[in-house]
Amino acid sequence: MSLNDYSQRVLQECVINKYPWEKEFIQSVTEVFDSLTPLLDRESKYEKNRILERIVVPERTILFRVQWVDDKGQIQVNDGYRVQFNSAIGPYKGGLRFHPSVNLSILKFLGFEQIFKNSLTTLPMGGGKGGSNFDPKGKSDREVMAFCQAFMRELYRHIGPSIDVPAGDIGVGKREIGYLFGQYRRIRDSYDSVLTGKALEWGGSLVRPEATGYGDVYFASEMLATRGESFDGKKVLVSGSGNVAQHACEKATQLGAKVLTLSDSNGTILDKDGIDAEKLAFVKDLKNNRRGRMKEYADKFPTAQYFEGARPWTLAPCDIALPCATQNELNGEEAKVLVANGCMCVGEGANMPSTPEAVACFQANKLLFSPGKASNAGGVATSGLEMSQNAMRLSWSAEEVDQKLHGIMKSIHNAAYTAAKEYGPKGDYVDYVLGANIAGFRKVANAMVDQGI
Ligand code: NDP
Repeated sequence: MSLNDYSQRVLQECVINKYPWEKEFIQSVTEVFDSLTPLLDRESKYEKNRILERIVVPERTILFRVQWVDDKGQIQVNDGYRVQFNSAIGPYKGGLRFHPSVNLSILKFLGFEQIFKNSLTTLPMGGGKGGSNFDPKGKSDREVMAFCQAFMRELYRHIGPSIDVPAGDIGVGKREIGYLFGQYRRIRDSYDSVLTGKALEWGGSLVRPEATGYGDVYFASEMLATRGESFDGKKVLVSGSGNVAQHACEKATQLGAKVLTLSDSNGTILDKDGIDAEKLAFVKDLKNNRRGRMKEYADKFPTAQYFEGARPWTLAPCDIALPCATQNELNGEEAKVLVANGCMCVGEGANMPSTPEAVACFQANKLLFSPGKASNAGGVATSGLEMSQNAMRLSWSAEEVDQKLHGIMKSIHNAAYTAAKEYGPKGDYVDYVLGANIAGFRKVANAMVDQGI
């Protein structure tokens, strides 16, 4: 696929010329625009209504100072952000990321992706993203609390149940959501549903912690089923060891697969016997409670080897790869190795983990390949279910939520598959990137046309 005159012009004039340093944002806009060519060629209303010019600009970008006091009594200053990208189909919705790499380019790329992902979930949610360059690693609980309270002291005025409902992302888990929510409630004196990913005892949803990883595996299962395959008996490489990776590993194992790897930003463990439920329980305790490093897994289990500084993709042959750590963590060379080793399916659990060269390699070799905006949408979909339960002031059982999540992942697969068949290249190969982008875009763009300017 390639850009048409309209999308080429908007990409150049509205994105590259104005923000040449925003490389992640340029990468994600290029990928989406590239997929939209057959739709834009067929439907002139999008150009007439200048939808591309409008959709690449956030409706609002909030930048703020976060000042807090560390355990030594020193004043610390961090950058705070909330990008309210698009609210055509519902309140802004998207996570908060606390990581030293956070900048506006990364948050704009994540917010832009979130627009189409949320549209695919079938739920009424707009797209947004936020966060800070604050690094929770190595900080005491009190310091994390002080930071979260300072962050919310500014953010509270920009969010609300019908305005903007943030959630977690890298570096923002149950602990951080607790401190953020506590501060919101104190300032507003109101128990509003303004954050998702809350603990069960005070407004969270069952299955929300599992949802992104489980959803990734449900989506990959749907793709595999189109070729008469399943997870049963397959070898799987997973990257990351956080929320998404842990639950992708858990569900893949439950479906009969053997997960061989997990990783963190220091290195990868390869366990030739597979990471079963007992070993995964060790990982969950290590990462979620003790905030330790994956290296300790190899000290504990003699069946595992630890590779310092390595990523999983070239360490062992696999049938299925699930990148679940971060953006651009699987490059073109690694993709070639996966293909040469017989990998048949790549389901992105993280956002944009595969570089454009890796995606091109997977597609040229006709692998089943799902972009994160489709296959990791289970997290935000279940956040949507958390909002519904809060609004109704009741809680669904784990079975009910999991069933709804499973149904939503099937619908997303169906939407991406159908759009790929309608607009993609003729033949057997299903281009899920094109399908997901067109299905996600069409709904939001039509809403923007309907609502005028
Ligand atoms: P966590 O913070 O729970 O885990 C992130 C994992 O990725 C950790 O293992 C971390 O290692 C690793 N990691 C982070 N940065 C890097 C890096 N630069 N290089 C190598 N490894 C890295 O985050 P989540 O699991 O929640 O998120 C993972 C991905 O999934 C992100 O792309 C996120 O945007 C996406 N996502 C998450 C959703 C959710 O519901 N949580 C929903 C949809 C998408 P370390 O411990 O060393 O930091």
